[in-house]
Amino acid sequence: MSIRTDAALPSVNMLYDVNRIREDFPILKQIVHGKPLVYLDNAATTQKPLQVLKELEKYYYTMNANIHRGVHALSQEATEAYESSRIKIKKFINALGKNEIIFTRGTTESINLVAQTYGRKNFNEGDEIIISHMEHHSNIVPWQMICEERKAKLRVIPIDEKGELVFEEFEKMLNEKTKFVSIVYASNSLGTVNPVKKIIDLAHSFNVPVLLDAAQAVNHLKIDVQKLDCDFLAFSGHKLYGPTGIGILYGKVNHLDSMPPYQGGGDMISKVTFEKTLYNELPYKFEAGTPNIAGAIGLGAAIDYAEKIGLEKIARHENELLKYATEKISELKGLRIIGTSKNKISVLSFVLENVHPHDVGTFLDFEGVAIRTGHHCTQPLMDRYGIPATSRASFGMYNTFDEVDVLVNGLKKILEVFG
Ligand code: PLP
Repeated sequence: MSIRTDAALPSVNMLYDVNRIREDFPILKQIVHGKPLVYLDNAATTQKPLQVLKELEKYYYTMNANIHRGVHALSQEATEAYESSRIKIKKFINALGKNEIIFTRGTTESINLVAQTYGRKNFNEGDEIIISHMEHHSNIVPWQMICEERKAKLRVIPIDEKGELVFEEFEKMLNEKTKFVSIVYASNSLGTVNPVKKIIDLAHSFNVPVLLDAAQAVNHLKIDVQKLDCDFLAFSGHKLYGPTGIGILYGKVNHLDSMPPYQGGGDMISKVTFEKTLYNELPYKFEAGTPNIAGAIGLGAAIDYAEKIGLEKIARHENELLKYATEKISELKGLRIIGTSKNKISVLSFVLENVHPHDVGTFLDFEGVAIRTGHHCTQPLMDRYGIPATSRASFGMYNTFDEVDVLVNGLKKILEVFG
């Protein structure tokens, strides 16, 4: 049984012209091992449209200069482009002010920033920090590090077989010792979208702040930080069709104001003497040194690009791909899907009986198909399922139903050879 054909696709997404979108991504025209590239590793990183590449080129061709401190024309132009990108991001996630938007290197740095500043200031012996069993290492290790330093305790919300949080366990875990909750919005290994609003509301009823790791959510779901009422939100530009090395930490002003700086150096100061340094206002207090100026500008261009197509349309397209792919691979004997929640982003993890995911990835590579295999930086999650690794296909705005078929045919061949 199948829900496909590309001709049948437009039923709900009538105006979604995937072939037109693909024209904007020159890398998708590559031939790999003699086969057209089928890029299904979008959860690791997304490809960049021409509109982003051109913006990066324009920056280095026409306005490269250091920002904030220069009176000359190029510096002012670069500053203007960098800061206008901050405003785009503020609007994109509906933050209250642009001083709540801090440029970082990515999700990892954003979470480390909060752990090392908020955590070092506020966590004490016996305090408890809550994360979940499906976290990326980026949302485990920074909390482990600060817990060790401050003698606090890390508590982990369990998940069920489908890959959903056991909410009642979270309810039981919250108490007067809880000082922080840090949760992934959408899991990179399972695809599960967590009930983050419910988590935030409950944590807030105990006066506990919540950080959302939105690395995987940001390019699939419309995020409104004011509606969510999250205290912090972290994401990376490169998973949102933007450049690598640039990311965002959103934080509520009252938290950011009360937190000490993360790193010391240029730009984060208002006055330095050998006796004492006064720190800059937000957001610059957290942006020490010359930032990734081109990256920030490129991220702004990526957001413009995604918004022009329409985030809802993109999400609908990706959901249809996920539905189709799930149905198709469910027909394959000896294949088990890991992560079967009904509420998922377009991430499809699976294991094949008798075939190591590494072999699956290598075999598919020779078919031109790029998927990710391994533990996906979620080793405790793999342990939970008693497996060392999965194969993971993840879909982006430019993927097609034909590409899903190439994946499925590749898997059939593998099962014929190894099954
Ligand atoms: N959190 C999640 C859920 C992720 O999927 C990733 C990257 O895969 C990260 C955090 C870390 O992102 P980055 O490596 O861009 O800092």
